[in-house]
Amino acid sequence: MLPKTADDYVNGVLAGNRAIIGRAITLIESRAERHRALAKEVLMRLVPHSGKAHRIGISGVPGVGKSTFIETFGTNLTGAGHKVAVLAVDPTSSRTGGSILGDKTRMAKLSTDENAFIRPSPTGGYLGGVARATRETMIVLEAAGFDVVLVETVGTGQSETLVADMVDFYLVLMLPGAGDELQGIKKGILELADMIAVNKCEGDNDRRALAARVEYKNALNIMTPASPNWKPPVVTISGLNNYGIDTLWEKIQDHRKILTDSGELPAKRREQQITWMWSMLKERLVLALERDPAVAERIPSIEHDVAAGTMTATVGAETLLRAFGLDLDG
Ligand code: GDP
Repeated sequence: MLPKTADDYVNGVLAGNRAIIGRAITLIESRAERHRALAKEVLMRLVPHSGKAHRIGISGVPGVGKSTFIETFGTNLTGAGHKVAVLAVDPTSSRTGGSILGDKTRMAKLSTDENAFIRPSPTGGYLGGVARATRETMIVLEAAGFDVVLVETVGTGQSETLVADMVDFYLVLMLPGAGDELQGIKKGILELADMIAVNKCEGDNDRRALAARVEYKNALNIMTPASPNWKPPVVTISGLNNYGIDTLWEKIQDHRKILTDSGELPAKRREQQITWMWSMLKERLVLALERDPAVAERIPSIEHDVAAGTMTATVGAETLLRAFGLDLDG
């Protein structure tokens, strides 16, 4: 039976009913006004049941081996009795109309595992909307009993920060063959990383892998760690051969224990909520501004004048804020 009321959704999700979980996520992803009220109610009631999962972000450039790694890591975890959710934040999915991340065909084994739930990146809309849907989907899956949530993202730009802001642990996959590789690493990604895993290292004595490990370690050494109690380690793994992945999981658990004991983890989650609230607030304000008829009417001419240099950007912004009804002089 199709869920209709908030009760139908909440009870179905809490009972772990996969069909209803899928429908609840679709409801949450919907941008239609008529769905938003129901989605909000469902979420409000699920939030108290969420929050117990390990939230792990996984980043790395296309081809680094993210999906192969998630397939292996996820299967190890379900084998050990965990329930694993895989989500994706892929800003390109809105442009191509189809997500390249979280695609079930890339994780053949995990996608048929009854203790795993894979959801591709929501498509359409702006990045902030995709991030909102992913955070809310996380609430649904945690309430349904998934205790490890993996959030995958491509190693580019703003989506990195958005994902780092919704997880407890941020894992960056890199390739061996350091030297050149390292040149291309953005400082930003090292600042976000709680661990670097050098992937495609098929064994202990892979010399390139060991060299890469040293280089990444040196690169991390010059950064100020985000936590005084956690120095981001560099590990070597092979997603394909299931090498080094147990060690990686042990380190993620160490991190959780250390940051829970020091109180940093709950503090980090609280801060993430505040950051999220402000980013939603800014987004909504801009949307409300753009949709305001008095503002909308003036935007084209003001944009024109600012572009032409006959009006400064500051005056342009102030004129639009006044049209929106803000008293800038008061
Ligand atoms: P993604 O784009 O980051 O999701 O990367 P994929 O998981 O699709 O992997 C890209 C390519 O690298 C595929 O041809 C994989 O078979 C290969 N690959 C992935 N993991 C490994 C690994 O651990 N070792 C080796 N040798 N190849 C791998």
